[in-house]
Amino acid sequence: MPKCDVKTRYIPATFAWTLLLSTTFLFFWYPCRQFYIHRHPWVPVCQAVITFFVIANFTLATFMDPGVIPKAPPDEDREDEFRAPLYKNAEINGITVRMKWCVTCKFYRPPRCSHCSVCNHCIETFDHHCPWVNNCIGRRNYRFFFFFLISLSVHMLSIFSLSLVYVLQKEKDKLTEVEPIVAMILMAIVTLLAIPIFGLTGFHMVLVSRGRTTNEQVTGKFKGGYNPFSRRCWSNCCYTQCGPQFPR
Ligand SMILES: [Zn+2]
Ligand SMILES: [Zn+2]
Repeated sequence: MPKCDVKTRYIPATFAWTLLLSTTFLFFWYPCRQFYIHRHPWVPVCQAVITFFVIANFTLATFMDPGVIPKAPPDEDREDEFRAPLYKNAEINGITVRMKWCVTCKFYRPPRCSHCSVCNHCIETFDHHCPWVNNCIGRRNYRFFFFFLISLSVHMLSIFSLSLVYVLQKEKDKLTEVEPIVAMILMAIVTLLAIPIFGLTGFHMVLVSRGRTTNEQVTGKFKGGYNPFSRRCWSNCCYTQCGPQFPR
């Protein structure tokens, strides 16, 4: 991978962290502190719990190994690459699934595995490469990514409603003070981010309930057909959140 690519990879993730931390700080420092002063200490406490979940899940999704499958050692029989057929079939729940040979990693990709061109690795149960966390989302960190989206949506709804309550309670001649202005700026930022974030959260809720990955949905893998990896709706949800992170 060229060197400049490695550097630009960090830009969206740095932007996301900066935006999250700065808006959260502004909220705690200005409108939220006023709730505390005016005898509503439960407001900062509840918000702190939500913030903890957002940051913990964001950190885990960013820094956790998504399920990288180690590449075959380069000294292995070189001719293999030319002799190996491109596909191999495997049967899962009575459905034949094609396994493709990965030219870079030199093995047959297990079902649901895909090669990420950014990370240059094959990832187990590959969902997508997320530039905002600068990591792949796969078997091991998908649950944290999913909980991050859920907690972020709650965080945004909470910041918006508390800021709105704060502004509405303020006397009209005091609306030019710093606190109500910060509250209004925060409401504007949340409104701008609402469509993409809530949309993505809803999309992943549907995927989880149907037992699919983003990759399978986008490439239309099970279009009109049967998804051998899907169980019942509730089992799909349990499997995504509590299923094994490592192969047996
Ligand atoms: Zn690969
Ligand atoms: Zn990746």
